[in-house]
Amino acid sequence: MIAFGPVPSRRLGRSLGINNIPPKICTFACVYCQLGRTLKMQVERCAFYRPEEVVSAVRDKVEKATASGESIDYLTFVPDGEPTLDANLGREIELLKPLGIKIAVITNSSLIWRADVREDLMGADWVSLKIDAAQEDVWRRIDRPHGSLRLGAVLDGMLEFAKDYTGELVTETMLARDVNDGADHVREVAEFLARLAPARAYLSIPTRPPAEPRVGAPKEEAINRAYQILGDRVDHVEYLIGYEGNAFAFTGNVEDDLLSITSVHPMREDAVRAFLARAGAAWPVVRSLIDRDQLVETEYDGHRFYVRKLRASR
Ligand code: SF4
Repeated sequence: MIAFGPVPSRRLGRSLGINNIPPKICTFACVYCQLGRTLKMQVERCAFYRPEEVVSAVRDKVEKATASGESIDYLTFVPDGEPTLDANLGREIELLKPLGIKIAVITNSSLIWRADVREDLMGADWVSLKIDAAQEDVWRRIDRPHGSLRLGAVLDGMLEFAKDYTGELVTETMLARDVNDGADHVREVAEFLARLAPARAYLSIPTRPPAEPRVGAPKEEAINRAYQILGDRVDHVEYLIGYEGNAFAFTGNVEDDLLSITSVHPMREDAVRAFLARAGAAWPVVRSLIDRDQLVETEYDGHRFYVRKLRASR
């Protein structure tokens, strides 16, 4: 199916997905990929569907959604593979513009060293770039890129793109336990992000079964540490871990509110205490969430932090 949804997305509101690539054709074979193993690895861009076919599928979905009173905030290129492999991406974005809905692309950044890919992405209103590694060997272990790709060229392409791009640029970093979650490596990612200066840097962890069963989510301590390291170099860092429904929703229920805040970012002990005071609640609320395994207490840099229990129980 070329168009699907709209589905709720924490980053994009109500997003209508565009699947412009046949299943699992990708430039990477990430160890954590939740779509299973890459079926076909390629780096050459090619035409998979006629642009008119893509646009007509999207228009059809938009009309149906509108008729049933559903709103759409973004048309999002988020295929089961890498969207920039589609040689028609730029043309499709151009043809979709008259629908008057903002356009987003979620890419693994692998082909951004190419001028034509950067040019295509320029047409989108919102672009998410993947940056899982800042060291070539770590990159090869986590994203398992096509052998012809080079991390240095990809990182340079990202900086080149960011220099001219006027839309909203965000990044996404997936952390996998003992693969790319070490403090030194995360510091290098943070240094790169400081140069890229995205509007927001998202941190995610595998929460669904990954392509390689041995791949696990980092411990809460490592997730919090990565958050703090990135937060020192980038203005806005957030977790992106799937609690789509209630993030930022202040319900007036102290437990729910603590869980929704900590699903987006860790809270320092003093912030938790201030929050409880405002809500007229006391520390046993926190203790009870910890006892029920919904909140985790961890330390970083001499401070105590509270983070939502993030790891999938597998
Ligand atoms: S880039 Fe995305 S689709 Fe491709 S292997 Fe990695 S996670 Fe899967």
